[in-house]
Amino acid sequence: MRRSIHLSGLALGAVLSLAAPLAMAWGPLGHSIVADLAQRQLSPEASAEVQRLLAPDHTRQLADIASWPDMIQDDPGQAGLWQQTRRQHYINFGSADCRYVPERDCRGGQCVVAGLQHYVEVLSDRKLPDAQRLQALKFVVHFVGDEHQPLHDGYRDDKGGNAYQVQFDGRGSNLHRVWDSGLLGTRHLGWQAYADKLAAEGPLGAPDVNAAGVERYAAWAEASCRITRDQGVYPAGHVIEASYVTSRLPIAEQQLRIAGRHLAEVLNESLGTAGGKP
Ligand SMILES: [Zn+2]
Repeated sequence: MRRSIHLSGLALGAVLSLAAPLAMAWGPLGHSIVADLAQRQLSPEASAEVQRLLAPDHTRQLADIASWPDMIQDDPGQAGLWQQTRRQHYINFGSADCRYVPERDCRGGQCVVAGLQHYVEVLSDRKLPDAQRLQALKFVVHFVGDEHQPLHDGYRDDKGGNAYQVQFDGRGSNLHRVWDSGLLGTRHLGWQAYADKLAAEGPLGAPDVNAAGVERYAAWAEASCRITRDQGVYPAGHVIEASYVTSRLPIAEQQLRIAGRHLAEVLNESLGTAGGKP
């Protein structure tokens, strides 16, 4: 049986009892929140283009397509695309200096930085077929979200926390999974209510990255890695205590908000009147 945490994220108790393979992403809750926060910040031009591209999928909400790049792992018809993209949901830094070295950390373009660069280029190219650009939109929405989950930018030696076993909520889990969905699940909110709550917290004070294109995506990865390294993501032991949830949940939520803003920036540039290729 091959089950994924991403498809089961709403049922936290069930998820934590599964002997799931490596977790690959924020769960659906986190991805939908990031997508929704971004959609609220789109320019009129970008918003109209998003609506036009989404129309064949019979939705108007980016939240509805945000987890698709994870869901294709269970679709035999998309096996090739999954194999091609599955290592682009994350980046493993080879050392604790959190400095992006492409030839070390992204060989063959197999990391989230390169994946994002590729799909932003496709999305921005208005000469390409709409179906191809819609698929690219799904990857861009997803990869920006993933890149802001700190353990998607962690260390190779423990596979971004997947190999760090923990006890959480009375069950066996791993640290990556706790950050994908466990922490956020403790709020017991649906994605829309959760996004409303975060949007109501006012403007973000975090500094923005002063870079463009692939350098910007690399800087986001480095910033996430520094959170993993410096902000107590790794607990002292292997039991996730209530105090850990209380102190780390705000970090996860801040990352959702930053991801939402960054995603809106990318989409506004790619799909606004000034963005895209002629
Ligand atoms: Zn993912």
